[in-house]
Amino acid sequence: MTQKKGIAILGSTGSIGTQALEVLESYPDHFDLQVITAGKNADLLITQAIKHQPNSVVITDESQYLYVKEALKNQDIHVYAGAEALCQVVESSEVHVVLTALVGYAGLKPTLRAIEAKKTIALANKETLVVAGELVTKMAREHGVNIYPVDSEHSAIFQCLVGEFHNPIEKIYLTASGGPFRGWSAEQLASVTRAQALKHPNWSMGAKITIDSATLMNKGLEVIEAKWLFNLRPDQIDVIVHPQSIVHSLVQFEDGSMKAQMGLPDMKLPIQFALTYPDRLPTTFPRFNFMDYPQLTFEAPSRDVFRNLGLAYDAMDTGGTAACILNAANEVAVEAYLNDQIHFTDIARINEATLNAVQSQSTPVYEDFVRSDEEARAFARGRIK
Ligand code: NAD
Ligand code: MG
Repeated sequence: MTQKKGIAILGSTGSIGTQALEVLESYPDHFDLQVITAGKNADLLITQAIKHQPNSVVITDESQYLYVKEALKNQDIHVYAGAEALCQVVESSEVHVVLTALVGYAGLKPTLRAIEAKKTIALANKETLVVAGELVTKMAREHGVNIYPVDSEHSAIFQCLVGEFHNPIEKIYLTASGGPFRGWSAEQLASVTRAQALKHPNWSMGAKITIDSATLMNKGLEVIEAKWLFNLRPDQIDVIVHPQSIVHSLVQFEDGSMKAQMGLPDMKLPIQFALTYPDRLPTTFPRFNFMDYPQLTFEAPSRDVFRNLGLAYDAMDTGGTAACILNAANEVAVEAYLNDQIHFTDIARINEATLNAVQSQSTPVYEDFVRSDEEARAFARGRIK
């Protein structure tokens, strides 16, 4: 038996984080849980800490530090608080792999710090690559760090590429379920409720990505994520709607051959593969049965109705910090939508207005991303009545 992998899970209380803990629990001989962290959900973090006995926990919301510290006072667990602590815990020598399962721009800094500390990255937090893909991948190359995708589509591409890394990719197809409003007109979309938008047909996920899936922003973010992960031009990345979510994505090679990765939708599989690559460990996950899916169907996404997908391509064309600006606008707009401040169709409107108004910085360094993020957030907030 080789050495156990020390794992840090940033965002352990979320949808990906809780599923990652299930994966780790299934393979105690392979993994050693070192760190778990949460944004605000102190109670779940405490429960997880007592059950899974990590070396350290971080609650990012500093006002809850004493509460967590008190609850864990009889445990042999270090308790830290704040965003800087999040960056420090990933640097521990006991941590080998950092699973970035927190949501949004907040993932950027700890991911950069983990790369600097030469930790392998299992990347769920797609916003990090959307915001600063050029910087993140450059730093990963310089530090000899591998970034393994957790996002199901990117895991699918990665799984198709195993054994093929020397073969150029002609193009990839990212599959999209189409979300709960597939086939709807712009007029119908204008009046959708939050409850409708939060009900994804095939996946149970955190609130932000669920809304992103309904607006197709999620697929736009994933196109940008794929560009950086697989070093592709935008014209090599296509999106195809596949409502059954069985084919998780496809690669087309230069001889025209296409490879797809398939299976029932279950995030535990891509989470596990990112942690065990190049090995596959046996699971008891339910298996796909063809007779339950006599038809797998494919259709073009409706780019006129779901503007966000096109905005992602626009941001890639502009380059610089444009994708960072789009991401910031979207984080502000989605939060406002979840707080009942704007309509569903305002999300893409705010994203488009912000992308057009805020100046992208070319050849950006870290501080340029911070500034573009702030400027875009301020502009987007100004569009919320
Ligand atoms: P979630 O909202 O369920 O969980 C987010 C986690 O991050 C929680 O533990 C929360 O406490 C923590 N967090 C939130 N804001 C934070 C902040 N400012 N600072 C520190 N911690 C913070 O989200 P999720 O659905 O698990 O998604 C996590 C990431 O994985 C996202 O980037 C998402 O796009 C990506 N992803 C999720 C899924 C999925 O099935 N849920 C699939 C593919 C990719
Ligand atoms: Mg995905």
